[in-house]
Amino acid sequence: MYPPEIAIYRLLKFLREKPEDEPLDPRWMNIWEEKYKRYAHRSAPLHIIRYIEEEIVQSPKVKAIDEEVWEIKINDDIKVTFLLGAGASAPSDIPTVDKLLSELWKRARKIGREDLDRLAKWCSERDINNIEDLLTAAYISYFAARNRNITSLLDYFIFSGGRELSEEVYFLQRRRLPRSPEIDVSSISFLQDTLQTLFGLLTSTMISASPNPTHQAIVDFIKTHKNTSIITTNYDGCIDEALLRDGIPLKGTISGEKGDSSDAIQLIKMHGSINWAYCDSCQDVREFDLLELKEAYEKDKLSYPVMGICKNCGGLRRPLLVPPLSFKFLMFPNLIDIWNSASQSIEEADYLIIVGYSFAEADTYITKIISRSMSLKENQKMIIVNTDPNLVPTLRDRFSPHIDGFNEKRILKACESSEKILPDILRSMLGQKDIKKEVEQPVKNKDEEHE
Ligand SMILES: [Zn+2]
Repeated sequence: MYPPEIAIYRLLKFLREKPEDEPLDPRWMNIWEEKYKRYAHRSAPLHIIRYIEEEIVQSPKVKAIDEEVWEIKINDDIKVTFLLGAGASAPSDIPTVDKLLSELWKRARKIGREDLDRLAKWCSERDINNIEDLLTAAYISYFAARNRNITSLLDYFIFSGGRELSEEVYFLQRRRLPRSPEIDVSSISFLQDTLQTLFGLLTSTMISASPNPTHQAIVDFIKTHKNTSIITTNYDGCIDEALLRDGIPLKGTISGEKGDSSDAIQLIKMHGSINWAYCDSCQDVREFDLLELKEAYEKDKLSYPVMGICKNCGGLRRPLLVPPLSFKFLMFPNLIDIWNSASQSIEEADYLIIVGYSFAEADTYITKIISRSMSLKENQKMIIVNTDPNLVPTLRDRFSPHIDGFNEKRILKACESSEKILPDILRSMLGQKDIKKEVEQPVKNKDEEHE
C-alpha cells in the first residue's frame, strides 16, 4: 500500500487518463471509501478531492447488468446449470451465517453447561464471531486430540519446531501448550458434539421457510427448458418445495431416483438438506419427504424434529448437514457421490447461472471445479446474479490467469437482487420477453422530452 498522498495522486492520474466511455471498476469505490477518503483532507487540496468524489461516487459509470445478458437465447440442446447460494434463500427469512453464532450461544445458554458458557465468554472477549472458525477449530482439536503424533506435529508446524526461534523462546512458547497426555479428549469430544447438535437444531428452524420469487422463476424456466440441473449449497427446502409443488419430479437427491426419471430434474444439494439424516453407527442415509416433514413440523406433530433412532441398528440419527467448515469436503464421505455429480453437471453446462452465491474462501472446492470447467470448455459462460458489485470484477481477475485467452464477457454480471431480476433474465433467455426493447424504450422518450 502506498502512502495516502501518493495513492491519491495515482488515483487522480488514473481517473484523468481513463477514456470517458470506459466503465469504472466498482472496486475503486471501495478502495476510496475504505482506505483513502479519511486521509484525503490531510493529503490533498480540496478541488482534487472534489474531482475524485465526483468521478467515483457521483457518476456511476458501471452498468448494473451487462447488456450481453439480454442477448442470450437458448434452445433445447443448451444445457443450463444453476448454482444457488445463501443469497437465493435470504428473502425466505433464512438466518445468514453471520447471525448463526449468536443464535448458537443463545441455545447453548439454555443447556446450562459450564464449559459451553466459558467458551462463549472466551469467544466474545476475542471478537470471534464466525461460526465457521469455531466449528472448524472444534473439528481439528477433536481430531488432533485423539492422535498424539498429530498433536506434536501441529506443535512443530505452528512453532516451527524451534528452527526459526531461539531454543529458549521455543521452549517458553511450547510450555504454554498442554503436553499431549494432558489433553482431555472426552471434553473436546463433548464440545464438538454439542456444537454440531446445536447447529443441527438451529438449521431445523429452516423447515418452515417458504420459496420466494427466485425459486419460482427457476421452476417456471424448467417447465419450458428441461435440459437444466440445479446445484445448491443451501440446506433449506425452498427450491425443492417450489419444484415439488409444481409437480416436477426430482432426481440426484440422496435417496436416488424416484418415479419417471426421464423428465425428473437433477437437484444436487452439496451441503446436505434439512430432510436428510444419517445414522451415527451404521452410516445408513435416509431422506424424508420434505412436504410431509414441513407439515408435521408446522402442526407440531414431531417429537424429534431433527434426530431419531435408526431403524437399521438402533443407533442415533443425525441431520445430514455439512456445517460451515473450512475443509468440509474431507469430513463428509456420505456426500462424495453428490459432489461428483455437482462437478459433472458444472462441466456439462453451456450456461452456469450463479444466484446469490459468494464464492467464499471455505468453498474453494466449488471455485476450483468452475475454474477447471471454464478452461476446458471454451464456450461456457457464467451469469452472476448477485448484489455485490465487486464480485464479478474479482472473479474475472481470479479466473483469467487459469484460462488461455480469457474473454471477460464469459462472466456476465447482473448486479441486482435475484428476486427482482432473475425472472426477467430467464424469460429473456427463453425468448419469452424482449427485455432490451423494454429497457431502451423509456430512455428514448426521455431524450425526446429534453429536445
Ligand atoms: Zn444405523
